Amino acid sequence: MSRKPVGSAKQAEPSVKLSIRGAERLLARHPWVYRSDIVGAEDIPPGASVRVQDARGKFLGTALYSSSSQIAIRMISHGSVDDLPALIAERIRAAISYRKDLVADTNAYRIVFSEADFLPGLIVDRYNDVLSIQILTQAMDAEPVRAAIVKTLRDELGPAGIVERVEVRIRDLEQLPPRASGLLWGEKSATEVGMNGVRFLYDGLEGQKTGAFLDQRENYAAAARYAHGEALDAFCYQGAFALHVAAKCSGVTGVDSSRPALEMADKNAALNGREVDWVEANAFDLLRDYAAANRRYDTVVLDPPAFAKTKRDLDKALRGYKELNLRAIKMLRPGGILVTCSCSFHVSGADFLKVVADAAQDAHKSLRIVENRGAAKDHPILLNVAETNYLKCMILSVSD
Ligand code: SAH
Repeated sequence: MSRKPVGSAKQAEPSVKLSIRGAERLLARHPWVYRSDIVGAEDIPPGASVRVQDARGKFLGTALYSSSSQIAIRMISHGSVDDLPALIAERIRAAISYRKDLVADTNAYRIVFSEADFLPGLIVDRYNDVLSIQILTQAMDAEPVRAAIVKTLRDELGPAGIVERVEVRIRDLEQLPPRASGLLWGEKSATEVGMNGVRFLYDGLEGQKTGAFLDQRENYAAAARYAHGEALDAFCYQGAFALHVAAKCSGVTGVDSSRPALEMADKNAALNGREVDWVEANAFDLLRDYAAANRRYDTVVLDPPAFAKTKRDLDKALRGYKELNLRAIKMLRPGGILVTCSCSFHVSGADFLKVVADAAQDAHKSLRIVENRGAAKDHPILLNVAETNYLKCMILSVSD
């Protein structure tokens, strides 16, 4: 009778050794270790799961390895992992269940938010009956992990379609073979969603991010609580803030530099029976021109794209935020409402508060913070992982 040698059923997991600094990061509950903090690694295949040890060989847990990213490992467990696809399936189910009591008034929300759901490299958004996924690392891209993701989502959520959104830049960085965005499963890639009673068209194969900015969902409802009079939504994309405040306002203008975004915004307005004046323009120029022409508003929303993509951009980003906020504050009538956002992780909440305060000072106005907000609860902030805390949304009331 032949006996299998121990371990023949599964190849032994490779292991990596960390520097003291690398091990300290993990002990501080940050899941990433940079390549410079890896002191010993055998020939590790791209995307492998690896046993992580400190410099003295003490076992710290299991991580997913990237052969190309500066973030060499991302922790997936503080213990051993026998069956990675099964663990990923379990984590997806846990992420779905975490949101059961947190998400209300919408059928469009984030189901899996990468590190914040202990699934580094995976994002899943639900848009009614269409799911949109993003795969950001070698490990999540490999089979049988991919198949496990799709199967779990089908079993748990019964969608009509699952779309994959590909960011070429990220696949390049991870040295993954090129791949096009498209349907992964099912037939449906476009649908209609509802948020806080407002309707939106969704096309999973178009638009920015996974198609919408779901992290702002609760902020749309908050903005609508205070909006009044004449409103300006700068950087409006497909019109989410504009359409939320429209019910409370006498007139709404939405500005964006993207024509396709405005075309979708216009369809969304029709779907909700609202009239919004959409303007295709550079918001910086338009705010300057409107301010020079003495235009006044009662509500202004500023939700620009991330100005600081890296730390090096910080000073320039802060100047950009200051300029925008200064112009907006100058245009607001007494009692007016400013909804001002920053999605740059490198701009901290304190930096952002200071920039808006400096703008108020330059405009010779006093502002009060009505609400100091962040991302919707389906985009959890994982304590000790600062990168998950990126969105700032302040609602302020302007006095003279
Ligand atoms: N408020 C939107 C999201 C805005 S994202 C929502 O909640 O859905 C940022 C938007 O700014 C994008 O739609 C992008 O097309 C637009 N944009 C980028 N640079 C711009 C500029 N200089 N002027 C106007 N719009 C700009």
